Amino acid sequence: MPEFPGPIADADFLSPTDLRPEQERRWARQASYLAERSDFFRALWAGESPSGGLDALGDLPFSDKEMLRADQRVHPPFGSYLAAAPERIVRVHRTSGTTGQAMNLALSAGDIVLTSAIGGRGFRAAGLGPGHRVVHTLNYQLWMGGLTDHLNLEATGAAVVPFGVGNSERLVRTIVELAVTAISCTPSYPAVLERAIAEHFPGMKPRDLGLKLGLFGGEAGLDNPSFRGRLEETWGFRVRNANYGVSDVLCLFAGQCEATDDLHFVGMDGIWPELVEPETGAPKPWRAGEQGELVLTHLVKECQPLARFRSGDIVALTATELCACGRFAPRMRVIGRTDDMVVVRGLNIFPSAVTAIVNMHKALSGEYRIVLSGPGPYDALPLEVELAKGHAPAPALAQEIEAEIKRHIGASARVSLLTPDSLPRTEGKTRRVLRLA
Ligand SMILES: [Zn+2]
Repeated sequence: MPEFPGPIADADFLSPTDLRPEQERRWARQASYLAERSDFFRALWAGESPSGGLDALGDLPFSDKEMLRADQRVHPPFGSYLAAAPERIVRVHRTSGTTGQAMNLALSAGDIVLTSAIGGRGFRAAGLGPGHRVVHTLNYQLWMGGLTDHLNLEATGAAVVPFGVGNSERLVRTIVELAVTAISCTPSYPAVLERAIAEHFPGMKPRDLGLKLGLFGGEAGLDNPSFRGRLEETWGFRVRNANYGVSDVLCLFAGQCEATDDLHFVGMDGIWPELVEPETGAPKPWRAGEQGELVLTHLVKECQPLARFRSGDIVALTATELCACGRFAPRMRVIGRTDDMVVVRGLNIFPSAVTAIVNMHKALSGEYRIVLSGPGPYDALPLEVELAKGHAPAPALAQEIEAEIKRHIGASARVSLLTPDSLPRTEGKTRRVLRLA
């Protein structure tokens, strides 16, 4: 088995021009590896081996999550896109499977080296490094967010405390007694810790824990400035979204640096990104200001390499020039999921834009649903918005929200107000778009 290329030192600081020749070499090597070793891609490419380099990637068909799922069902446990011999696998993760079949993710020793080098860059950009002591409070069971992110944190040179989930009282003691300076957790976890502090440590305030840096995964709440501001005020730490990844591709390959709230794409030596029009799949230029679905191709991956994988995430590419932090790594913002995109009179609308408007109103609880009946096309956004406790439906409020949606998003909306607590609360990500047959 030929050795796979490893990470390029400080690839996130290199200019696109400096990186390009090595990216081309990596793709040429990877493309012939796929054509030779991946049954899945040999079938998808009808036995052809890609030629023409990265500029010709657009000629290849897409792959997507549904195809991988179906393939793992037929070829358990790793799918016929497992290109390596089974004995090359040294780590296996599973996704939770709460929204369907669990996916099995296999990594070779080389895959792991690249994964932690790139993941480490994401956390380093957020300000973590030698001298920091960071407590990692994600679940270590099966999924990548536990062990693999732990190793990503270690790759920064920081000392990592493997805490996992549960027992908040013990976590508070651990933070204080080990003089922990940073925490890696979900955006909803600080609220849980605040309650634990109030209950078990009378007189202590979250700020007293001395945390300087909060590293969070990319849930939508983080982009809400008031949520973020409240967290920073309560805890006295800097809030960074330092954990964007696509589990089938790479655990973590984008995060915020200290100079911008956009996400640096720090994995250019391991994956090649493209933007495409979500509805037609037509390629869009990789240029600041463009927006589209993020499509990813492994430049280096031994176990389960993918080419032109549709991530389902819609991103806006915000900058490609040198950042004030010294990194050339391109910057982007995640706007939403393709499954959540609603087209109203030709306008692509994402729930994140609606969330921003709903969150501005004190009379609203923050919960809402876009309820679509029939296949469309839709001429207005049908919106059910829940009132906050103590508020009654008022036609003036509905009209006000409709006017704001028109002004900020550009679409007409039909808003119905719902009484407090009438929408279901679900664990994890709430589905904002309900499609009725
Ligand atoms: Zn930067």
